[in-house]
Amino acid sequence: MSDKLKSVKESHEYKEFVKLSELGLVLPNKICGNENCKNFESEMEPDLRKREKNAKNLILNWRCRTCRVYNSVYAGSFFSLFRKPVKIILAVIKCWAAQISATKAKSVINLNLEHQLTEAMILGVYARLRQICTLAVDKQNLKLGGSGKVVEIDESLYCKVKHWKGKDLKRRPVWVFGLVERADGESSGRTYMQIVKDREAQTLLSIIYDKCESGSIIFSDCWASYNKIAMFKNFTHKTVNHSVNFLDPNNGACTNRIESLWRACKQKFKEMNGCKRVYIQSYIDEFIWRFNNNVTTDRIACYNLILREISKFYRPGISLNEFEEKVLSENRTSFEEDELSNENFETCSSSGSTSENEVNAEDIFSEFCVVYRRMKTIQLQ
Ligand SMILES: [Zn+2]
Repeated sequence: MSDKLKSVKESHEYKEFVKLSELGLVLPNKICGNENCKNFESEMEPDLRKREKNAKNLILNWRCRTCRVYNSVYAGSFFSLFRKPVKIILAVIKCWAAQISATKAKSVINLNLEHQLTEAMILGVYARLRQICTLAVDKQNLKLGGSGKVVEIDESLYCKVKHWKGKDLKRRPVWVFGLVERADGESSGRTYMQIVKDREAQTLLSIIYDKCESGSIIFSDCWASYNKIAMFKNFTHKTVNHSVNFLDPNNGACTNRIESLWRACKQKFKEMNGCKRVYIQSYIDEFIWRFNNNVTTDRIACYNLILREISKFYRPGISLNEFEEKVLSENRTSFEEDELSNENFETCSSSGSTSENEVNAEDIFSEFCVVYRRMKTIQLQ
């Protein structure tokens, strides 16, 4: 081994790369793809160089010794989406794992790593991580409850229409329907939440039917849409009347767990002062992912897990289009563009206000399609 190669392999950059390749985040080697090269299809060597003369950071490349073709070892990986040194992107992911806001992350990273990150760049990484969560939650196969197990269900208003006139006529309330298992000896309980177009029986029952295993015991409030739950899949249905008490003294039903989840989930929106409507489901997906994997309060476990999820769902070599198609199909109902999609909303702290029952909420799913398409065109830095 030449001295130069030896020093490359001892560098911090190379060791970092090896660690990430062991996690499956980047390919561990590369062969020369130059057909005119004598060493066509033989392995390339790692090589460290500066992008330009005065650049601060060294870039780790694969380089062919014969034809001297080279490109970044991170080409085609998740990291190549952000045009920043890998150690910076990893620092951003650490901040995300610790649930640090983009504003704070920016000052922490710029101070400690002497870099000039913008908030937009950090938000770009955060948005990609939420897309990973959307895929990792595996909504299709996520089933809750089971014989004799308790599942609490509830609906919650995420986006309220303040005055039902003027500009607000165009706005639509956003209802989220949620289910959560009670913790038992085997598990600490998982959750599932999704935006619903309305709170009609058909809408809610079809989700309950799909998400709850046969024989589950379902606790809910007295919302009329739930009346027919016990007709399906051997479900037992118990209700608690919130206008009277929060724990039904006769049947033991209560929905404290789902309500505390609403508070926790909405806290994030509050800290952000609301967010664009299109992002609501992706933040909810992130919440579900953290909760179901039990990493909500453990930033190190969260960081390690999200790296593993990235290697699974953004495996090196996947095309960005293919990735986004998958994310989109997880949250798709319609493809239509919607001009309201960029509108900000304020979260409601109260859950289940029924004053707007008569509002016939339109389908807002189309909004999700818009954001994922737009993300393709967002220039990160
Ligand atoms: Zn070559």
